[in-house]
Amino acid sequence: MIRRVFRPTDLARLWPLLADGALAMAGGTDLLVRRRGQAAVDVALLEGIGELAEIAAMRTGLVRLGAMASHSALAASRLVTARLPVLARALLALGSPQIRAMGTLGGNIATASPAGDSLPPLYALDALVELASRHGRRRVPLAEVILGPSRTALSPGEIIAAVLVRPPVSGSLQHFEKVGRRSALAIAVASLAAVIETDAAGRVASARLAVGSLGPTVLRCPAAEAALAGQRLTPDVLQQAAGHIRAAVSPIDDIRATAAYRRQVAGNLLLRLAAGE
Ligand SMILES: Cc1cc2nc3c(=O)[nH]c(=O)nc-3n(C[C@H](O)[C@H](O)[C@H](O)COP(=O)(O)OP(=O)(O)OC[C@H]3O[C@@H](n4cnc5c(N)ncnc54)[C@H](O)[C@@H]3O)c2cc1C
Repeated sequence: MIRRVFRPTDLARLWPLLADGALAMAGGTDLLVRRRGQAAVDVALLEGIGELAEIAAMRTGLVRLGAMASHSALAASRLVTARLPVLARALLALGSPQIRAMGTLGGNIATASPAGDSLPPLYALDALVELASRHGRRRVPLAEVILGPSRTALSPGEIIAAVLVRPPVSGSLQHFEKVGRRSALAIAVASLAAVIETDAAGRVASARLAVGSLGPTVLRCPAAEAALAGQRLTPDVLQQAAGHIRAAVSPIDDIRATAAYRRQVAGNLLLRLAAGE
């Protein structure tokens, strides 16, 4: 499964390894499972490259989340819990304590699973992904990085260096909920992240909604967002927006749930906002 393991301590040492065909490995919680039974490969561990794990507020007002930051480090970060609680909440619902300690944000994005728990919050936060390679860096909206299940727009030899997010204004509603087949260590059957800014009168100034496990990629719901704009979050308004979510998703039947159940739950998750949960 694994032939040779390299542990570069900076990016300059990483690039030739990737050029020679080594696979980038972060926490290994997806990669080692997927490589089981396959031809042996060289891997380049990203864990020795310190800059990739940083979590910091930038002068521009953006928050920079290093790709190698583990889920548990992010969920424990005061910056994340205070400014991006929708992300912290999602990461606490991801896997088990062991998986959260090993698994990383960059690995969750690169895996590009429609059920990746970090993704709905990052879509709802309009996250940018910083990609790096021997040729330089580029910033790309997350929705353009993820092309489909297990498919990304990363070029050969390119890695995810960080995720950049502008925190919503303070007082915004930030909500994440995931429905699985059990309450812990469950892959999402459906999930919803919501970032909603309201004005002084309690009317929605902007709503950003993203759902997971309801199509080939995580999905924003512009029609539902528009239905909330200018409104108070009353049960009637949420019911209407929930209908738009159910119409927008394209879930599948699989071993975890039927498409019909997923579609119903997708809308129901939004109704929770009426209770202020
Ligand atoms: C028991 C178990 C339970 C799980 N539960 C959940 C869950 O509830 N929710 C969920 O979302 N996921 C879950 N997962 C999946 C997994 O833990 C996460 O997707 C995790 O975030 C992967 O991160 P990693 O650092 O381990 O990635 P790795 O396994 O190291 O890498 C995964 C893929 O991403 C690539 N990669 C990693 N980092 C980078 C980078 N910086 N740049 C470019 N490519 C990179 C690797 O080459 C590989 O192809 C679970 C996994 C297991 C084994």
